[in-house]
Amino acid sequence: MTQQSQVEPIIRGTGVVAGLAYGAVRWVGRVEDAAAGPGKGGQAEGTPPGPPPGEEQLERDRERFVAAATTVAGRLDQRASLATGVSAEVLSANAVLARDRGWAKAVVKELKKGLGVEAATMAATETFVAMFTRVGGRQAERITDLRDICARVVAELRGLPEPGIPEFDEPGVLLADDLAPADTAGLDAAKVLGIVIEHGGPTSHTAIIARQLGIPCVVAAAGLAAVPDGARVLVDAGAGTVTVDPDEDSAVGAAAADKRLRDVAAGWTGPAVLADGHEVSLLANVQDAGGAEAAAAGPAGGIGLFRTELAFLDRPTEPSADEQAELYARVLGAFPAAKVVTRTLDAGSDKPLAFAGMTEEDNPALGVRGIRVDLIDRGLLDRQLDALAEAGRRVGGEHSSPWVMAPMISTVDEARDFAARCRERGLTPGIMVEVPAVAVAVDRFLPHVDFLSIGTNDLTQYVMAADRMSSDLAALTDPWQPAVLRLIRSVAEAAARAPGGRTVPVGVCGEAAADPQLACVLLGLGVSSLSVATAALPFVGAALGEVTLERCRELAALALDCDTAREARAAVMAGGA
Ligand code: PEP
Ligand code: MG
Repeated sequence: MTQQSQVEPIIRGTGVVAGLAYGAVRWVGRVEDAAAGPGKGGQAEGTPPGPPPGEEQLERDRERFVAAATTVAGRLDQRASLATGVSAEVLSANAVLARDRGWAKAVVKELKKGLGVEAATMAATETFVAMFTRVGGRQAERITDLRDICARVVAELRGLPEPGIPEFDEPGVLLADDLAPADTAGLDAAKVLGIVIEHGGPTSHTAIIARQLGIPCVVAAAGLAAVPDGARVLVDAGAGTVTVDPDEDSAVGAAAADKRLRDVAAGWTGPAVLADGHEVSLLANVQDAGGAEAAAAGPAGGIGLFRTELAFLDRPTEPSADEQAELYARVLGAFPAAKVVTRTLDAGSDKPLAFAGMTEEDNPALGVRGIRVDLIDRGLLDRQLDALAEAGRRVGGEHSSPWVMAPMISTVDEARDFAARCRERGLTPGIMVEVPAVAVAVDRFLPHVDFLSIGTNDLTQYVMAADRMSSDLAALTDPWQPAVLRLIRSVAEAAARAPGGRTVPVGVCGEAAADPQLACVLLGLGVSSLSVATAALPFVGAALGEVTLERCRELAALALDCDTAREARAAVMAGGA
């Protein structure tokens, strides 16, 4: 195998229903294929207008359109009567659109310009598409519905079968530019293992129906069009990735293990306990008070990462001390008797904060971000720590000395200074381990802090010298990379025998912890807590319930004994995590 072919082509999108699916892909017939127009933006462009029709011709064409639209609406109604829940609502709503009098009027307007009935139907549809695009938001997401209904009506006018989902001879993965609601509503979850669409957002009908059916789904997968019909793909909707032609054995194993896990996760309500009774601190990542309260309503054992910068991303000016204290108090108060770790503002790079005073940089991921903002405005961090201390006083009890950590620490001086400023205020200081310099020399940092939290997203980015935002480099920014796993192990080992006989707790709060199999490995490497998105909690919790700590250690050893991320993942899958 050549060096290049080892890099799997990975397409990135947004995962909306977590889960893995492996199989051959089938493309949905595209809407414009059915309408036989030149493209989505100009389905009617290919047909030059003729002379304006006479009264009789106009009436005949109008009647043909109305008859076709009525037939399509009737079919949609019939399918709605056989469906339930959201599917039935979607189909009925589309039947209403097909009968829309405004659409019929717009078709007549186009007919009067001399267009044939099919071209007039497409042109009228595009005027509504343009209108919905201008309105944006949820209206824009209905564009797929409009074009789908148009394609059905045009097919009917031509005497062709309705466009739609292909037949699946064997279960597989459905690919589409975007799915028409009428198609998704009729999906057979036994045949469709996963859905990937190139367009559409997390609130599109495709996402809603996939969620209802529990089918792993990725939306907004740019570059999907290059995947040929029949290619085999591994969809990881938790990570939002589609791997084309993955290693077959590990993909089959991963998908089967995931399916089993999804069945168990569906019934998992916590707390997180290993099969040998060993309790695990399984925490939630949140970004605002609502998220903290939602996490508290579920099985989370606390909060391992409160990304404060995300609460203020849209703010032109620094929130006042009181506003900050109020927010932090609400987040602490969501878990009155459990651990809550607040992270100070991680401004910069992909999370620019208007009020943090940063200037444009050529290479922002390596620039002024996280704790380094202190270099240009020391007051920002001081005011945030003051606000957090005030929140601790307001909430009291378990939170009278709130846990707080700094992002992007890279030197002992930074850690020492940060810890001192925290302790002055009665806060419990920790640091994130996401710059390799800290991981490599962690023993020098340990005397200054009370806890560590490994940010595997950035740690992997910096260890592998690969931009975490790049889909081309996704195989490199994989937290299963052996170099990353080794660093995590050495950090955990050092923290377990910190100077002065202390054991410093080490958590992982990057996406690595949300991968159920990798979560088991992380515990085996010596990590003491895991913090993941609330939606991922049941998957991780269910996976942990199936392994003992001893097994986690064996799995960690298997992963560490590999040369590549792919081999490590495959070894752990085969090892039964
Ligand atoms: C990380 O880098 O892993 C992390 C948790 O921080 P963020 O993703 O917010 O940069
Ligand atoms: Mg980070």
